[in-house]
Amino acid sequence: MKTERLELSAECYEDSISRAAELLESGGIVAIPTETVYGLAASAYCEKAVEKIFTAKGRPQDNPLIVHISDLDMIADITDGFDDKARKCAEAFWPGPFTMVLKRGEKIPKSVSAGLDTVAVRMPSDKVARDIIKSSGLPLAAPSANTSGSPSPTTPYHVLNDLDGKIDAVIMGEECQVGLESTVVTLCTEPPRLLRPGGVTVEELLKILPDLVVDTAVLSEPKADAEVASPGMKYKHYAPKTETVLVSGSVDKFSSFVNNKKDSLAVCFHEDLDYLSVKYLSYGSIKNPETLAHNLFSVLREVDSLKVKTVYIHAPDKKGVGLAVYNRLIRAAGFKIIELH
Ligand code: AMP
Ligand code: MG
Repeated sequence: MKTERLELSAECYEDSISRAAELLESGGIVAIPTETVYGLAASAYCEKAVEKIFTAKGRPQDNPLIVHISDLDMIADITDGFDDKARKCAEAFWPGPFTMVLKRGEKIPKSVSAGLDTVAVRMPSDKVARDIIKSSGLPLAAPSANTSGSPSPTTPYHVLNDLDGKIDAVIMGEECQVGLESTVVTLCTEPPRLLRPGGVTVEELLKILPDLVVDTAVLSEPKADAEVASPGMKYKHYAPKTETVLVSGSVDKFSSFVNNKKDSLAVCFHEDLDYLSVKYLSYGSIKNPETLAHNLFSVLREVDSLKVKTVYIHAPDKKGVGLAVYNRLIRAAGFKIIELH
C-alpha cells in the first residue's frame, strides 16, 4: 500500500483535510495530529476499518480504542447516557487531553472497545484533528499511530518510521504540543478512577471529581494474571531496544551513579548537564514537567541510535504532569527502577 503524505501548507490545507475525510468515509486509516500524540484514525462506526488499525499497529485485540469527537452533540450516538458528572468533566476539560470511559452506545461496534460494554471518548483541541472529524462527520476511533510497544509518535516522521506502507495516509502536521497520551478516567466505577495519567493532572481532576481514586496500575506493574481496569496498562510500552533503567534521586546522586557506569547513556534534565561525563540526551527541565512530557517520546526514539549498552533515565517527581511522565517511564524501563536515596 502506498501511504499518501497530506501536506498542511496554506495552499493545500483544505484539500488535505477533505482527502483525509474522504479516505476515512470509505473505510481507510489515516494518521492525524492531535495535541497529545499522533493518532491512527478510522471511522468508529466501521468494523472493517477498526480491524485495519489493529493489524497495522500489531495491537493486541484486548486493548480498546479511544473515540474522538469534535462536538458534544456527537456524544448521544456513542455512549449510553451522559450524566451530570460526565457533563461537568466535559465542561472543565474538553476540548483537551482528557478521555472519559462511559457506557458504550449501540452504534459503536464491540471491536472498538475490545469487547467491553464501555467506551472511551475524547474531544481533542487540535485544530487539524477537529477539522478532519467535522469534515468526515464521523466519530474517529484512534489509538496512537505507532507500532504497538514502541514510543508513541509526536511527529509525522515518527509515524512514517513505524507505519509507512501500512496505512492509507499521514497528515504532515506539526510536532504535538503535549507529547503524551491523554489522561483516562473511568466514570463507570463508583468512585471514578484514574486509569492513565496525562496532560490533565490529578490536581486538576480532583477539583471536579473530589472522590477520584488512582488505579494501582498507574504506578506499579500489574500482575500477569490480574484483571486490569485499563487493558493498555498491562503491556510493556514506549520501550527503546536498548536496556533501559529508571533512576530516582538528586542531580548529585544521579550524575555520580551514571558517571560510574561504562558504555551508558544518561537521559537527563538540563540541570544534570554540567555534572555528567557520559553521553547524554536531555529531555527538559526538572522545574517544568511539561517540557519533559513534550520531549520524552522523541528522546526515547533517539536512544537506540546512540548504540550504548544501557540507558539510565533520570525520573521526575510524580507531581502534576510529572506523574504521567513517570507512568510512561516505568513502562519504558520494564519496571526496572533504582532509587538513590
Ligand atoms: P492509546 O489510544 O493507544 O493511547 O490507548 C488507549 C488506552 O485507553 C488503552 O490502552 C486503554 O487502556 C484505555 N481505554 C480505552 N478504552 C477503554 C475502556 N473502554 N475501558 C478502559 N480503558 C480504556
Ligand atoms: Mg498507544
